Amino acid sequence: MMPGIETETSLLRDLASIVGPPHVITEEAERRYFSSDFFYWDGAGTAAIVVSPGSAEEVQAIIRMLAGSGREIAIRGGGMSTGRSYVPQGNAAILLDMQRLNRIREINPKDRYLVAETGCTWQQIVDALSAHEMVCDFTIPGSGSVATVGGAMAHNVTGGMKGVLGIEAVRANGDMIRTGSWAREAAPAPYWRDYGPDLTGLFLGDTGAFGIKTAISLHISPAPEASGFASFAFSSEPDLILTMLALSNCDYLSMRSGFDPALTRIVIEVQTGTPAPLTSGWTLHLRCDQLNEAAAQAGILRARNICLRRGYELPQSIAAGLGAQRLSVRGCLSRAGDRWIATNAVFPLSRAAEATEKLREFLNAHEAEFIAHDVKIASFVTANPYHFQLEPLFWWSDKVSELALRHIDSGEAEKFRLIPEKPANRVFITHMRHEVRDLFQDLGAVHVHTSKFFRYAELLCPGTRRLLQDIKQTLDPENMLNPGNLGLKGVSS
Ligand SMILES: Cc1cc2nc3c(=O)[nH]c(=O)nc-3n(C[C@H](O)[C@H](O)[C@H](O)COP(=O)(O)OP(=O)(O)OC[C@H]3O[C@@H](n4cnc5c(N)ncnc54)[C@H](O)[C@@H]3O)c2cc1C
Repeated sequence: MMPGIETETSLLRDLASIVGPPHVITEEAERRYFSSDFFYWDGAGTAAIVVSPGSAEEVQAIIRMLAGSGREIAIRGGGMSTGRSYVPQGNAAILLDMQRLNRIREINPKDRYLVAETGCTWQQIVDALSAHEMVCDFTIPGSGSVATVGGAMAHNVTGGMKGVLGIEAVRANGDMIRTGSWAREAAPAPYWRDYGPDLTGLFLGDTGAFGIKTAISLHISPAPEASGFASFAFSSEPDLILTMLALSNCDYLSMRSGFDPALTRIVIEVQTGTPAPLTSGWTLHLRCDQLNEAAAQAGILRARNICLRRGYELPQSIAAGLGAQRLSVRGCLSRAGDRWIATNAVFPLSRAAEATEKLREFLNAHEAEFIAHDVKIASFVTANPYHFQLEPLFWWSDKVSELALRHIDSGEAEKFRLIPEKPANRVFITHMRHEVRDLFQDLGAVHVHTSKFFRYAELLCPGTRRLLQDIKQTLDPENMLNPGNLGLKGVSS
């Protein structure tokens, strides 16, 4: 139910008194823009108010003010996600746009950490650290030109969260908390995570359901002095998968991305701006970061020997181009402006071949429907020392979202704005994405991101599910923060 007009007017006045009038948005098109992610969500809400706090204290003041109001609070970073995790459930939601919390508070090369507010983009972090010839120990999302530090903390990333040393967050009761060595009352310094229970971990991957992260500390390292690259092609998918598994012990590799023929073409076209020279073949792209050139090349040589058992070598410029790729969200559209949606699954390494085969069987069984809807399929695979990740991507022509249009070159945006809506494609893609998710979950997969779409709670064993519910109940008894996330209460996917 929408709150009364009088209440709404005083709420707007109070919010404006905290963040300043320009940072409270009520205009409908803007509210819709902030409330939409990269996918379609039938029945999703549009926030009633978008408010952009500029400091942790302002976040605290907003939360304290909203306590007891019964209002849903949706938390948005860069907005680059695809799983309905900040998209409001209802139309009365207050959406917190975190992008104004964008200060890097400290770079401490001596104690090896960086403290950044959570609205910083990853590009800001990379740029700030490069001045010190340092990097963070974290697999930065490819969307990091727009995606924020807070979004990755709340969502997890494929490479794992070990590089995170501590978190500063505002709880639903307005308390400001810090974790790890940063939690000390006197002389707090965010240099060590493993001080007491891992309270940092509690807030990682919570999709914002447990608290609003306002700053984080990341471990930093000297930038690698040399990188080696290599690309290979394989005549079949099993050959690519077997090679990736054979490489899974090569812990020194810093990139190992496998593409099916379609993704190879799309990636190269978007990356180079020209049609891809390759027309067939599954491809694998490696990078090895090391202390010096000889070590980087030794790593590549060892991997090359494994790859050449089943594949043949391509120009290393392809992997070098991918490895050096600037953070960009241009990849959310093909060169022609087709939309894209990925559905991610994580398996143990031993199940890589089976999972890939089952996905291929599924896609083949639906081939006629995909052709009828002119949907192209491209797949991404990667195997690291911990797990195998499988990510089919659907590409199709449909009205390009405002979210994508605002983050690409304006000339292209003008052109892509003319692409018409295809309602039948929308229904088909939505159905197929759910089918692929269910296939993965039936096969026992877990996922990198645990948004509303991935139904996290219902897949847990009863004891763990109860623990999750108890934690939510303790941290957010009024269920204000991103309600429905983690599959908790009122889930709809
Ligand atoms: C082109 C493209 C490439 C991508 N590449 C990758 C990739 O390489 N790796 C990868 O893992 N993902 C990738 N993604 C998915 C997505 O961009 C990442 O998950 C990213 O980390 C989301 O960050 P964001 O700031 O945009 O978060 P949002 O989309 O704004 O939010 C994501 C979640 O975080 C929560 N949240 C955001 N900020 C806070 C905060 N301060 N406190 C509490 N909760 C918060 C939101 O409520 C939501 O649940 C890609 C997406 C696109 C479009």
